[in-house]
Amino acid sequence: MILDITSLRVALGVVALTLLLLFYASYRRTRSSYNGWWCVALLFFLAGNLAFLLNGTPYQVWANPAGNVLLVGGAFSVWTGARSLRMLPAPRWQFAAACGATAVASALENPGYNTWSGGLVYLGLMTVGIALASRNLWLLDSSYSHVHKSMAFAAAFLAAYYFCRLDVYIVEGPNGPNFTAYFGSSIASLVTLVLLVAVSFSMTALSNDQLINRLSERAARDNLTGLLNRGTFMDLATKELERLHARSSVASLILADLDHFKAINDEHGHAAGDAALQAFADACSASVRSTDLVGRYGGEEFILLLPGASQERAESIAADINQALAANKDADDIHVPTVSYGVTSTEFDDDLTAMIAAADSALYEAKSLGRNRVVRASPRLS
Ligand code: GH3
Ligand code: MG
Ligand code: MG
Repeated sequence: MILDITSLRVALGVVALTLLLLFYASYRRTRSSYNGWWCVALLFFLAGNLAFLLNGTPYQVWANPAGNVLLVGGAFSVWTGARSLRMLPAPRWQFAAACGATAVASALENPGYNTWSGGLVYLGLMTVGIALASRNLWLLDSSYSHVHKSMAFAAAFLAAYYFCRLDVYIVEGPNGPNFTAYFGSSIASLVTLVLLVAVSFSMTALSNDQLINRLSERAARDNLTGLLNRGTFMDLATKELERLHARSSVASLILADLDHFKAINDEHGHAAGDAALQAFADACSASVRSTDLVGRYGGEEFILLLPGASQERAESIAADINQALAANKDADDIHVPTVSYGVTSTEFDDDLTAMIAAADSALYEAKSLGRNRVVRASPRLS
């Protein structure tokens, strides 16, 4: 059976165009960046295929290198989309370097009459791009539907196919018997068609999951400071204290309240007040570990749970926050107030409500003693 490459390329183009229209409609609804990057990838694949249709014409000299670059760009867009599911940024440099290397390699091997000009770099980078996409799909956490594993397998299969293409290309060149029988452009187009079907099957599930994750992340955070909001803090802190209790580990809790904060609003305006709240939130985030919980408890009150930290450690963290805040103030000319802190630890009580009440009393005492200080909760007399 002889597969006619021109017809296959046209069929692949029609399928890619149909999927592009469907994926774009879905992107407008979900704004899922995974979905968006697949639209970009399909545009690259479509344009690359169109460029390859010019093989054998006088335009081949530029169309063939352009086709290679566009297909590598498509593979790297698929990788970028898979990374976006893990909240990782777009790999700009790797993307640009891959396209640049393909362009240079393809231009150097007589693209005017050699349809496999730059084939080695092209096949190598296609393998790398698709393999990286497969790895990222595989590493998704349980907030994504199981279909990500099937997608990871499909991408791994395609990466393995491209790896074999590369090997056979190196061993016998593009005109060798095995390369033309199993790894030439016709079979590769067929394999790509199968992958596109697999992608379309999983697109709705993965882009909906990405939308849900984005909305849950937004709902969990205070939108002025980016810290956990009160409800999320309470849920996470309750679970964390239960976990620590089971392990007999300690934790400390800090309640912080900005001093005379109302005066900043009154004297410098609400925007200056907001900037001070953001500066304090940044100072907190910069002074704690990634496993600590930091939340905005109310207006200008903040709450921190520090697993594994003693009272003394919590007091020194409060001092670190003050230092970071002062540095922020000098750098950005922000009107930053002093801060009062109430500190307690699980050594007295490990129930969250009781800990907050104890820290609140200590905070009240800090205010009455003249503000701008850290006060420890006293042990409950029972
Ligand atoms: P104290 O030292 O006793 O804590 O005095 P204070 O002025 O800090 O406390 P008070 O409770 O009198 O005032 C808190 C102010 O915080 C009043 C409120 O308008 C302001 N506030 C609450 N939320 C926000 C916010 O999101 N942005 C701004 N700019 N101000 C806020
Ligand atoms: Mg207050
Ligand atoms: Mg206050």
